[in-house]
Amino acid sequence: MTDCIFCKIVSGVIPSKKLYEDNDVIAFHDIHPIAPVHFLLVPKLHVAGLSNCALEHQALLGRLLLLAPKLAGEQGLDGFRTMINTGKSGGQEVFHLHVHVFGGGAVLPKV
Ligand code: AMP
Ligand code: ZN
Repeated sequence: MTDCIFCKIVSGVIPSKKLYEDNDVIAFHDIHPIAPVHFLLVPKLHVAGLSNCALEHQALLGRLLLLAPKLAGEQGLDGFRTMINTGKSGGQEVFHLHVHVFGGGAVLPKV
């Protein structure tokens, strides 16, 4: 996916404020944070979104969710919110699967 911004971040073509990387996953700070701490968990594999996931992505999805509390804790958060926008009507703007993790500051409003 040569025109995918997150693939370009994964390959290092576009810089990011990286906070974690392993063979399958990268995490970096969101360029437009909506909370004092706001980072994105991104699989290195290009998958457009949650609706494009299948059984073969089950382990990867688990990895992403298990990393959320680990990295949030390392960022000093004792509580946080996760968000996966899916599809245009779900507010998704970057069509490479990612999990938002954000928190810090005031208690987040109920949704
Ligand atoms: P979504 O609306 O769920 O697709 O969220 C995409 C997120 O990616 C937004 O919160 C953007 O601020 C963020 N974003 C877009 N480009 C970059 C970038 N180059 N580095 C870090 N975050 C980005
Ligand atoms: Zn991509």
